[in-house]
Amino acid sequence: MSEVVLSGVVKRYGRVTALAGVDVSVPSGQLTAVLGPSGCGKTTLLRSLAGFERIDAGEIRIDGNRVAGGGRHLPAHRRHIAVVPQEGALFPHLSVADNVGYGLDRAARRSDRVEEVLTLVGLAGYGSRMPHQLSGGQQQRVAVARALAPRPSVVLLDEPFSALDAGLRAGLRHDVREALRADGATGVLVTHDQGEALSVADKVVVLRDGRVVQADAPATIYREPVDAWVAGFVGDAVLLPAVVERGTARTALGALPVTGTVTEGPVTVLVRPEQIRLATGQAGISASVLRHDFHGHDALIGLRLDDGTRITARILDGGPPCPVGDRVTVQVDGPARVFPTQAGPDSATSVLVGLAA
Ligand code: ADP
Ligand code: MG
Repeated sequence: MSEVVLSGVVKRYGRVTALAGVDVSVPSGQLTAVLGPSGCGKTTLLRSLAGFERIDAGEIRIDGNRVAGGGRHLPAHRRHIAVVPQEGALFPHLSVADNVGYGLDRAARRSDRVEEVLTLVGLAGYGSRMPHQLSGGQQQRVAVARALAPRPSVVLLDEPFSALDAGLRAGLRHDVREALRADGATGVLVTHDQGEALSVADKVVVLRDGRVVQADAPATIYREPVDAWVAGFVGDAVLLPAVVERGTARTALGALPVTGTVTEGPVTVLVRPEQIRLATGQAGISASVLRHDFHGHDALIGLRLDDGTRITARILDGGPPCPVGDRVTVQVDGPARVFPTQAGPDSATSVLVGLAA
């Protein structure tokens, strides 16, 4: 188990600043997800941690020992960090057991460590198979077992599930999280998939343009995003212009109680689609149904309020039918979160509806 701390880390490639002063602390024995859109610096952060890149400023410490920065650059093989890459990482001509035992000394290879980590990843008894005899998901499990085998201080996973089917991915990421936990490993998982980060990590670090914008527990990131961008990146978001008066926001959805750092005056409010409740012929704001996207467990309903504002509601399967064209009324459950409105030429009239796909 090891704590990893990055302070003020800067990494440039020529004129591109990939990391612009990153502060991250990775708690020992936990899984921390680094979440951000493509190109925000996730892989650079991982490669800097692993020692594959030399940082330009700042420092990286593992258990208090500086491994990078201040003129020091501990080579990758001396950092005791394991990396699980995206795909295709196994030696095709070696058996599963030999792949897993590859980084171990002879004594460790003869011990039961190989079978132990195969068991952790759910592949007990698979040691004599060859990689081509495994599915893609099983191959990634072997890659994780191989990373864990030498008991590294830290395991880094760079979008390790992105090449797999969605259905497989959910089960695999859960099993990998459990394997890391059972082995007491400290993990850093890099992903652009918000569902993945929120569902498996103990802590989520949101990265944008080479900077950390928020680092918190998953539920805090979802419920208390620091700004409208994070709100829309980590989930479906209805963002509305509003005016706060005496602690209440006046919005197109009516007067809403608010949370967050509340200032009086013009603001942007966040309502999650699952906070929006639909009914017919009751009190509330009236709206027409524009869209009905069925997702099995729930459905996303696109609505236009009578003042033209477009919003999205999430209803559970078995809720009101809401066919396209229907008239409904809308009410909001729970408080709205408030962000300062970015000053702009038409910020008072623009309606932001951030909908992550
Ligand atoms: P992510 O993994 O989040 O997609 P990366 O860390 O790969 O992001 O890239 C961050 C930024 O650094 C991007 O603008 C990318 O184009 C740039 N970059 C990454 N690697 C290199 C490199 N070897 N040479 C030049 N630019 C790079
Ligand atoms: Mg990347």
